[in-house]
Amino acid sequence: MSSVPVLIVGGGPAGSSAAWHCAQAGLEVCLVDRARFPRAKPCAEYVSPEGSRILHAMGALDTLEQQAALLTGMVVHAPSGARIHGEFVARHGFRGFRDKGLGIRREILDTVLLERARAAGVTVLEDAKVESLTQDGTGRVTGAVVRTADGLRTITAALVIGADGLRSVVSRRLGLAHQSRWPRRVALVAHYRGVAGMGSLGEMHVTRTGYVGLAQVSGGLVNVALVVPRRLAGAMREGTDAYLEQWLAAQPSLAPRFAGAQRVTPVRATGPFASRATRPWAPGAMLTGDAADFFDPFTGEGIYAGLRGGELLAEYAVAAVHATSRTAHVRALHGYERARRATFAGKWRVEHLIGLAVGMPPLLNHAARVLSRDRDLADLLIGVTGDFVPPSAVLRPRTLLRFFA
Ligand SMILES: Cc1cc2nc3c(=O)[nH]c(=O)nc-3n(C[C@H](O)[C@H](O)[C@H](O)COP(=O)(O)OP(=O)(O)OC[C@H]3O[C@@H](n4cnc5c(N)ncnc54)[C@H](O)[C@@H]3O)c2cc1C
Repeated sequence: MSSVPVLIVGGGPAGSSAAWHCAQAGLEVCLVDRARFPRAKPCAEYVSPEGSRILHAMGALDTLEQQAALLTGMVVHAPSGARIHGEFVARHGFRGFRDKGLGIRREILDTVLLERARAAGVTVLEDAKVESLTQDGTGRVTGAVVRTADGLRTITAALVIGADGLRSVVSRRLGLAHQSRWPRRVALVAHYRGVAGMGSLGEMHVTRTGYVGLAQVSGGLVNVALVVPRRLAGAMREGTDAYLEQWLAAQPSLAPRFAGAQRVTPVRATGPFASRATRPWAPGAMLTGDAADFFDPFTGEGIYAGLRGGELLAEYAVAAVHATSRTAHVRALHGYERARRATFAGKWRVEHLIGLAVGMPPLLNHAARVLSRDRDLADLLIGVTGDFVPPSAVLRPRTLLRFFA
């Protein structure tokens, strides 16, 4: 295929969702990914209860639920030892599409979603890496240069969608990439078998030297995702395996739980993560998923944001592809930017507030003290991170004041 209306770069949750929704909206789509699936992605592998709505729409939920661990909520351990315990089913009355979140390995999730895109008629090329974009004399994107086993080829497209993750080549080539100065963190992720004391809650343990997330995922495995400030990366000289294991062994509350555990996958490193494109589009191109923005794994809803972003963009992609003038094309892309802001802005604010607390132990200790006594507020906050409680429910002044009680 050397010419197509829509070319999507990246077959993670954002790319597969965009591809599936664009195909459903009647567009002919080609998706390229530099990887061959199944492929791993460093991630804590939690999908929020509302994420299941989009997985269901894509026809993927039944298959995924059979292979996932089901999570009923979250518990956050603050540096002081105080615990914030929140559940998805709670007295606030908001309900997600499902009452539980999913702990699902990315090898499985991403492969199933890519298959759903294929089933919707999307042409998928694996082992196909986009190296650069082509542009016309006005700067409008007209396609991409793709490296495959057969060499370089150019695929022309009316619209190129960059869903190529944190180091998006699409956003970099268009000068839209912007790394945030804060927070600067790196992550080490691995799967373990035999971690003691795991239940149906996802766990976050915050210390003065970083935080670690533990959650059951498919096949009786536990996902362990350690996130530390980037300045500590120098201490990983002896290797990421040793660093992760020494870090866990140094935590009095965690070391006994890992005493009989065995790491069953390599330790994968990633980061820094916080980035936001200056704009999620340029003439001839759109950005979605991490390529558009990602903040921090703590609130960990990048998968939902990727799925939702793909759902959101389809109508604007249709308008941009069928536009008969440059003005109408750009108007459609502006519409996409506005729709993203309207959809995600509240969540971005909550993520930043949580990110602030995680980086300032006294603040988190205070919040944990309040939330350990105010279970309704904890449930509300967990519901926001589960994408089914509107962020406005915690951002209203009356609710925010409860944190200072
Ligand atoms: C440590 C950590 C823990 C996290 N935990 C969670 C969590 O528990 N829950 C959650 O919801 N989110 C979590 N996230 C965030 C989540 O992983 C991302 O937000 C999500 O993967 C974004 O999906 P995406 O499709 O945008 O990008 P990706 O999943 O990164 O997919 C991008 C795809 O693009 C392909 N690609 C890249 N460059 C090119 C190229 N040049 N040409 C062709 N293909 C290319 C890649 O091969 C890849 O398949 C976590 C992130 C980190 C770092």
